[in-house]
Amino acid sequence: MELEAKESEITKSEFVKFMDLVKNRNPHEPEFIQAVEEVAETVIPFILKNKIYNGKQILTRMVEPERILMFRVPWINDAGKIIVNRGYRIEMSSAIGPYKGGLRFHPTVNLSILKFLAFEQVFKNALTTLPMGGGKGGSDFNPKGKSDVEIMRFCQSFMGELFRHIGHNTDVPAGDIGVGGREIGYLFGMYKKLRNEFTGVLTGKGLSWGGSLIRPEATGYGTVYFAQGMLETKGDTIKGKTVLISGSGNVAQYACEKATQLGAKVVTLSDSSGYIYDEEGIDADKLAFVMDLKNNKRDRIKEYIHKYPKAKYFEGERPWGVVCDIAMPCATQNEIDQEEASLLLSNGCFVISEGANMPSTPEAVHAFQAAKILYAPGKASNAGGVATSGLEMSQNSLRINWAREEVDQRLKKIMSDIHDSCIKYGKRDDGYIDYVRGANIAGFVKVADAMLAQGVV
Ligand code: NDP
Repeated sequence: MELEAKESEITKSEFVKFMDLVKNRNPHEPEFIQAVEEVAETVIPFILKNKIYNGKQILTRMVEPERILMFRVPWINDAGKIIVNRGYRIEMSSAIGPYKGGLRFHPTVNLSILKFLAFEQVFKNALTTLPMGGGKGGSDFNPKGKSDVEIMRFCQSFMGELFRHIGHNTDVPAGDIGVGGREIGYLFGMYKKLRNEFTGVLTGKGLSWGGSLIRPEATGYGTVYFAQGMLETKGDTIKGKTVLISGSGNVAQYACEKATQLGAKVVTLSDSSGYIYDEEGIDADKLAFVMDLKNNKRDRIKEYIHKYPKAKYFEGERPWGVVCDIAMPCATQNEIDQEEASLLLSNGCFVISEGANMPSTPEAVHAFQAAKILYAPGKASNAGGVATSGLEMSQNSLRINWAREEVDQRLKKIMSDIHDSCIKYGKRDDGYIDYVRGANIAGFVKVADAMLAQGVV
């Protein structure tokens, strides 16, 4: 008993010392500090118990990006005015492969948000079993309301600098919020022109020019496959369950599609203006309407109630107060706070599979863990997107295209392997699976072993 108490004191003081260092070195970066804290909470006790990692400063090295690029992105809008945005690429870790991670175009983008995303990406990519390091990038550019030509001019200017730093063996960006197939096309076109080479330097490409089947669907499908894996541990399935989804972009759309195909009833979708509630469920036809609305017309989710008047729209609200079995946050970071977590729990929600990155605040995560529900952090449950990007890279290198079924089978297998890794390191003596601990330690071990082998670089 005494020994245990002493051990826990040492762990606590190591954790406090480490977090003080991170806070002092990154004082204005709350999201980055939040992401590091969540990992440190579970990984520091593991390091202290495992001699090969202890004293090697592995976590201290991992929180310092290998390289940060920041650059000016000037472009001219349709009115002839010169606009200046800021571009970023965080090359976080290349321990197990080329830097890999998406680009986000959103007015809230800053160093803190991109460093948190890049840090998460390192662990997520390690979990996929594929050889990919971690990175993230983007710009504070707001694509909303811009014409197609403005988007193209911006993407070309952005790539006019980024092309110097990326390459299919160095750093392979993909999409994220505000960067979909259209933007990847413009970015790829400019890269090809500047480098005079056709390589798999970006993923999420169009099918006729190097893209992979299932890549657009992969993050959303993977999030649902992961939820299924968690339910199976309880002898249950997703069939007949009521599901809340936030967001209505890429991840939300395909999470909705797969959940519905597997017999669940999805009753909500949202955007940054509000959410819609459709008690009868958002079936395939209704989802086709949403896809056209968001991807082609680039309109707001509230239009849903004009097409389907039985549904309701709640301006300025998030969907977490609706009664459900499963919640899949698929919009953005910190979109479920402590109060909303309590509401979900008291309404009977018992599965959370995160499609977005870090959508639950630390207090919400602790509430889910205390209630011992099936809770999967995004770095495990949304890894299907980057995993399929990895499959796109393999197909590009081999110069072949796999069939839809083949990519989907590989995606399912990867999600199942990630689930197994979480169990390996996350199962407690009482049988409860702590997916946060499992994902963090499994990701850490893979990257740490590579770092130890490669020396202090
Ligand atoms: P999209 O741009 O396609 O869609 C984003 C959706 O989230 C939109 O409905 C958007 O609404 C909403 N949203 C964005 N910011 C906010 C905000 N601050 N508050 C409320 N709603 C917001 O992005 P994705 O679907 O690609 O990404 C969604 C999440 O999934 C992100 O966290 C991303 O990092 C994560 N992710 C994405 C992957 C991918 O493959 N695309 C892979 C792994 C994770 P609005 O239109 O009003 O802005």
